[in-house]
Amino acid sequence: MTDQLPLDPIALSQALIRCPSVTPVEGGTLDVLVGALEPLGFTCHRLKFSAEDTPDIENLYARIGNGEPNFCFAGHVDVVPVGSGAAWTVDPFGGEIKQDRLFGRGAADMKSAVAAFVAAAAAYLEKNGPPAGSISLLITGDEEGPAVNGTKKMLEWAAEQGEVFDACLVGEPTSPETLGEMIKIGRRGSIICRLTVTGIQGHTAYPHLADNPVHKLIAVLNALTTIPLDQGTQHFQPSSIAVTSVDVGNAATNVTPEKATAVFNVRYSDLHTSASLRDWIEGHIRAVLGENATDVELEIDLTGESFLTPPGPLSDLISGAVETVTGRTPELGTAGGTSDARFIKDYCPVAEFGLVGRTMHKVDEFVDIADITALTEIYRLVIERYFAVSEASSR
Ligand SMILES: [Zn+2]
Repeated sequence: MTDQLPLDPIALSQALIRCPSVTPVEGGTLDVLVGALEPLGFTCHRLKFSAEDTPDIENLYARIGNGEPNFCFAGHVDVVPVGSGAAWTVDPFGGEIKQDRLFGRGAADMKSAVAAFVAAAAAYLEKNGPPAGSISLLITGDEEGPAVNGTKKMLEWAAEQGEVFDACLVGEPTSPETLGEMIKIGRRGSIICRLTVTGIQGHTAYPHLADNPVHKLIAVLNALTTIPLDQGTQHFQPSSIAVTSVDVGNAATNVTPEKATAVFNVRYSDLHTSASLRDWIEGHIRAVLGENATDVELEIDLTGESFLTPPGPLSDLISGAVETVTGRTPELGTAGGTSDARFIKDYCPVAEFGLVGRTMHKVDEFVDIADITALTEIYRLVIERYFAVSEASSR
């Protein structure tokens, strides 16, 4: 089937995997993409953004057509580090095919999905000619990194240029085991909390003369981790708290320390915001330590608020294409980590559908060749049906 396509998604996936683009390095990926997109008629803008304390990042915005609606595909070409290189049985940047699987860092997350979309656009254009509207790609090199000089800034740049997006499909891996199992229509929010309790240092033999912050911290953490935040909602699993560190830095066994710090991560549904969670956590601190708990400091870093694009035309469109190609009816989910969809949701309806994520970020990351081919056909149908519907409704 791939040899009937004007642009082979497998070869393009291999070419992208062979660019060692560990964040923040671009690694040649954008040359590969521009080389594929410009001959199809896309206008390409390479966008380099900088900020203090973060590395410069190169990104790409490509568009074909000037009219509305503008259907956008968003993705990233940066990858996480190889990790334990010795454990790989293949060259992580070799783009090797073995037993109908394409191996390499980024094979699943998410170079092959970027390649599939480019091949899908090529197939659409060959069959239908220019779209009654526009097709665009928003490709960042800063998704696996701090995400400061990537999608967020590209969207701001695009808004300044008068670029409007009408729908966006993010190609992150969404299916746990089998292609077509899941579309993501939202994501949980995530905050990192650093809680420090200050007491009075003392001798362990005279605890009444000291004020042990470790005991207080444990009591607060116990409340936070045993009282559920919620029971989940129709589209979200229950919100969760995971303590990642309890730090006292005390080497002595006969001294109680002055300070104790814990770090925890809250992943939350659309029932909460970072502000409401601050209130919830502070309420528990007061409940455990009393109203005058002034010796407690709570720092909260927001990774991204939770969001939901309620099921509607975009998720229906993607579900329909998935069903046609795979025969599966995808679940509409919100689980997993955050993605750049958290930035895009402020501009247009956004949903995520991509490859099987089972091996992402792991040693010997791979994706089934058949899945790349099927994903290309799914993306092609999404584009074709999107413009068929918008044309019919504008008549
Ligand atoms: Zn990814």
